[in-house]
Amino acid sequence: QDYLNQIQEHNPAINAYIHLDADRTLAQAQKADERLQSGTDSLLTGVPIAVKANFCEEGWTTSCGSKMLENFIAPYTAHVVQNVRNHGMVSLGKVNMDEFAMGSTSESSFFGITRNPWNLNHVPGGSSGGSAAAVAARLAPAALGSDTGGSIRQPAAHCGVTGIKPTYGIISRFGMVAYASSLDQAGPMAQTAEDCALLLNAMAGFDERDSTSLERAKEDYMRDLNLPLTGLRVGLPKEYLEGGLNADVAATVQNTVDLLKSLGAQMVDISLRQTEFVIPAYYVIATAEASTNLSRFDGVRYGHRTDSFESLDEFYSKNRAEGFGEEVKRRIMMGTYVLSHGYYDAYYVKAQQLRRLVSNDFQAAFEQCDVILAPASPTAAPAIGSQTKDPVQMYLSDVFTTSLNLAGLPGISVPAGFSQDGLPIGMQLFGNYFAEAKLLNVAHQIQ
Ligand code: GLN
Repeated sequence: QDYLNQIQEHNPAINAYIHLDADRTLAQAQKADERLQSGTDSLLTGVPIAVKANFCEEGWTTSCGSKMLENFIAPYTAHVVQNVRNHGMVSLGKVNMDEFAMGSTSESSFFGITRNPWNLNHVPGGSSGGSAAAVAARLAPAALGSDTGGSIRQPAAHCGVTGIKPTYGIISRFGMVAYASSLDQAGPMAQTAEDCALLLNAMAGFDERDSTSLERAKEDYMRDLNLPLTGLRVGLPKEYLEGGLNADVAATVQNTVDLLKSLGAQMVDISLRQTEFVIPAYYVIATAEASTNLSRFDGVRYGHRTDSFESLDEFYSKNRAEGFGEEVKRRIMMGTYVLSHGYYDAYYVKAQQLRRLVSNDFQAAFEQCDVILAPASPTAAPAIGSQTKDPVQMYLSDVFTTSLNLAGLPGISVPAGFSQDGLPIGMQLFGNYFAEAKLLNVAHQIQ
């Protein structure tokens, strides 16, 4: 109830929450109270969580920030949402996002833009901008986000919160609306690495309904939080640091390096040679997969239906023309193009080859170091409206985050400083497959 009151007071200025249902939230809270009384609680029982609007939860609107799904009520609950609910967590509501998770600023939602709580004239990052803004504004102690090319880590950085994108396959994608299936991964966002570890314990787990879910022994992600960093080898990728790194971000990298050294870590210069190919490869693969994933939204099986039409072709075409926003249409067209006969080999196959090289780059780097340090974004949160005119410029701002999704590796973003203008700046740590406990350990030590 307290969080709902806070949301009522502060959400209008920020627009983090887009679908609230106080009765449902309070009914879940009531059940949590009963569990606390009966002694069947866990550490998370009764803790509220904000859920990104691309996760299904039975009976709630799951709009993905799109007019297409404005009236879609989920008929079932996503595995990851069920997992946290099984611990007695309480859904506070659905939070805003770029339409179908396509974007880096949370400005493409049909439900309006979300504002950065640190400065309302700036974006919160994206696509999980609602999740990050909700945690930053204390309108939720925790949030669920999804990361296809940085959408947990970059908004976490822009809003001064912590977010982890786990190894691909650790959290089931069942019930998370697909953007680019081979890149999508859910993960927790919260104030601290410690909170993220606790949440990841609840979220991770095998699920036979997701064919890419990994069957592994249960891990305790809290276990290594307090390990000392003595002797830890931290890789500094030269391709990420040279060139036009913004002065505020460069200063924050240096401060983080100094802090890590003071805690006993040792810096290693590394090279991720394929970095220049990351953005092109990512935007070919992500749009290709999106174009097929979004074909189901035709107004027949799902989604918006037009009022008037004269033929079946017109019916499909108007449903999609009216239901999707500009950025989603642009990506469906790009994806369809790179998959089409005659261009498939030149673009799609080539991008898959580059994806392998990017993965190999990381494997070579992890021979030399235990974790890699990288900025989360080339700048602090941009001003509202400054990125929307030039989509390519916005795509380029994903340079530090998308490589990890191409390789399926885990990464965490932690608050590490502030720009001259008082906006938060985040640093990322990358790890090898299944190195979540190590990343959480390092993040916890430098927070
Ligand atoms: N900004 C990237 C994109 O637009 C990443 C989005 C995401 O991770 N969902 O594709």
